[in-house]
Amino acid sequence: MVKRKSMVILDTEIRPGRKTILNLDIARLHNRTKVEIPVIVQRGREDGPVLLLIAGIHGNEVNGVEIIRELISRKINRPDKGTVICIPVLNVFGFLNQTRDFPDGKDLNRFFPGSKTGSLASIFAYYMMNEIMPHADYCIDFHTGGADRFNSSQIRISRDHPELLELAQVFKPRFIVYAPEREKSFRQVATKMGKKVILFEGGKSLDFHKRITMRGVNGVMRTMHHLGMRDFSDEISANEITEPIVINQSSWFRARHGGLFRFFLKDGAKVEKGEIVGSISDPYGSFEHLVKIPHDGYIIGMNHAPIVYQGDALVHLGTV
Ligand SMILES: [Zn+2]
Repeated sequence: MVKRKSMVILDTEIRPGRKTILNLDIARLHNRTKVEIPVIVQRGREDGPVLLLIAGIHGNEVNGVEIIRELISRKINRPDKGTVICIPVLNVFGFLNQTRDFPDGKDLNRFFPGSKTGSLASIFAYYMMNEIMPHADYCIDFHTGGADRFNSSQIRISRDHPELLELAQVFKPRFIVYAPEREKSFRQVATKMGKKVILFEGGKSLDFHKRITMRGVNGVMRTMHHLGMRDFSDEISANEITEPIVINQSSWFRARHGGLFRFFLKDGAKVEKGEIVGSISDPYGSFEHLVKIPHDGYIIGMNHAPIVYQGDALVHLGTV
């Protein structure tokens, strides 16, 4: 019989074929209440890759939290081979307050790899990198658009990384977007550690979107199947989706007038130069400006705000 490797996370032995719920115990609130971050580890009977699923680095991006919750409640996170580690809510403070940042206003995703003696966000980043990341081979980091910006489902990866492109293609989001890694972000630092990291973006903050959730859930099944962790052939063939469109360049197209804003198209739509995508008007029915697309492309993100200022981002336009 092949001897299985032992696996110890946060001083706890993870046994093959078992589910273990750990707590990443990092800080206390001002009333001394402990802040614990549940880490749900599900190990298969056989050895294999370790896949880390993480959401809520930004506390108000709840659609990512919902995707991981769905995976756990449907027991999709149970591999036959290897291990799936789920952290549905990393920035617990932001999640409790329904804000993107930490209570001190810091964006956790700009503090990796963190430090034991730094700010609260920095301490969180430090424990994440030192206690959890060493165990992972692959990682999917779930996000949504900020504020009212709604993103079509997309995987963001760095250029010139064929293995990540392959993982993104396996996941099958609506779009694959080449996006540079941000300084001191989780993705940048984990990639430097040699981990294979892809970032999922979909929906907007403080919002659930069924189609986005299903894309995320399906993507994880496809990824686990591809990595040989579990056979999801039936689920995959029952959910045939079109191949993702690879976006080489993208930019936000901004409002030339302030006013009430309405969209005429759906996210993900293919658009041509000069096409009317929406209108901006004053509240009194006398002024109306039609918003025309500046060049051909795809709408990979859109502003859902009903009222915009001049210069506000309206459409995230991607070109192939
Ligand atoms: Zn985010």
